[in-house]
Amino acid sequence: MAVYDQNNIFGKIIRGELPAQKVFEDDKTIAFLDIMPRAPGHTLVIPKAPARNLLDVNPDDLAHVMQVAQKIAQAGMKAFGADGVTIQQFNEKAGGQVVFHLHVHVIPRKEGEAMKPPATFKETPENLAAHADKLRAALA
Ligand code: 5GP
Repeated sequence: MAVYDQNNIFGKIIRGELPAQKVFEDDKTIAFLDIMPRAPGHTLVIPKAPARNLLDVNPDDLAHVMQVAQKIAQAGMKAFGADGVTIQQFNEKAGGQVVFHLHVHVIPRKEGEAMKPPATFKETPENLAAHADKLRAALA
């Protein structure tokens, strides 16, 4: 398997070199909105420690990422009046991964509303800010 490349987009977000709408942060994890959401509130949860994906992540970091994903899913249900939540996680190019720092997608879902296809819709900065405010309020 390829090695971790620290110049990936999420590595830059962790180091503060690129902006992101963060909704949660602790010593091991960051959660921020996906700029091309498949539904409103689509959030990515990542470990701060370098990990390319599920295949090389430290198991304790993976467990913590999943605990945070659960918190974000619960907050997403409340913030967006969702009826359900889709969790996605892709590994290596053949597995659908595009950004090579481990991330878990948390996508609030409404009954009868299909997710947008991946990477087809870039949300406005204003809407992303409003969605992040809602999630942060639900997490408080
Ligand atoms: P995956 O690697 O799981 O296929 O998807 C990577 C995800 O990262 C996509 O859902 C895409 O919309 C999101 N993404 C790509 N570039 C950026 C970025 O610069 N900022 C944020 N917040 N999300 C991004």
